Amino acid sequence: MSAEHDQGGPEQTLTARALADIGACADLASLDEARVRWLGRKGALTEQLKSIGSLPPSERPAAGARINRATERVQHAIEARRVELERGAVERALAEGAVDVTLPGRGEGTGGLHPITQTRLRIEQIFRQAGFDVAEGPEIEDDFHNFEALNLPPDHPARAMHDTFYLKGGYLLRTHTSPVQIRAMRSRPPPLALIAPGRVYRRDSDVSHSPMFHQIEGLLVDENVSFAHLKAALHHFMEAFFEQNLSMRLRPSYFPFTEPSAEVDISCVLCQGRGCRVCKHTGWLEIAGCGMVHPRVFEACGVDAERFTGWAFGAGIDRLAMLRHGVNDLRLFFENDLRFLAGFAGGAP
Ligand SMILES: [Zn+2]
Repeated sequence: MSAEHDQGGPEQTLTARALADIGACADLASLDEARVRWLGRKGALTEQLKSIGSLPPSERPAAGARINRATERVQHAIEARRVELERGAVERALAEGAVDVTLPGRGEGTGGLHPITQTRLRIEQIFRQAGFDVAEGPEIEDDFHNFEALNLPPDHPARAMHDTFYLKGGYLLRTHTSPVQIRAMRSRPPPLALIAPGRVYRRDSDVSHSPMFHQIEGLLVDENVSFAHLKAALHHFMEAFFEQNLSMRLRPSYFPFTEPSAEVDISCVLCQGRGCRVCKHTGWLEIAGCGMVHPRVFEACGVDAERFTGWAFGAGIDRLAMLRHGVNDLRLFFENDLRFLAGFAGGAP
């Protein structure tokens, strides 16, 4: 027998009813209603407390104490039931949300530079060490800088090879980084030694072509600059970039903006020239185009072609990245699949 029971009183019955009522509350809303019903301003226990005034004065203290105890019990019961119901609500939400709290957290992966960016920075680093500046130009160009100043007048057949994206107002998306040469030569006098890496655009898309790709342009203009110097600079760069000894050969070629012009081949960096699938069993990889700056290009830029000579080359950053990292599909670089990119995270340029 509990102490309260011994003391008796009408509040005993009320307390028992209140506790049963609270225990039957199935959710927080009905629990709150029960609280108002028993302990609110017009609640049953509150009314009981008010009725003490009608008791004889000698009985009032004992009755008051009993009712206070009863009120406290009911308050505790409400609080306990609230905790129970809240825990139940959380468990139901977890079950409904199908959140498996035993799964490991997702964690916060460390980001990394995109492999193309790593490759670009690596190229820049090698050329900066050789005293070259890194120049930039706009990706939306005009016809003059992208074609005309590069000895590609409007009727030039080589324009057709560029698959140009034309914009309104005579503008276009640059088809190569060569316009940066033009802007550099027109903005300051020789000597000039610069590279210009950046995005270029052509209407072309397959395993080895993307409508947006990355080129690196090199330009050296000074007195007594020769083709031999060009070959040595490119050879030095390729060996530094691929971190291996390489053979290099130049094949005569044609570009409107250089004369003479050459295609640059290096011995295959994957099979060291023995022949493999990547080099189509030739042992050689086409890696760049180059040549001596055409006098007409100098003329368009106001450079004295009698006094100065210069060389220029262009190569694909994406191709350099593919060869260095053994990636065989160009599109992987631009699909931004994190499973692919994560393999390069944290890599040094
Ligand atoms: Zn090979």
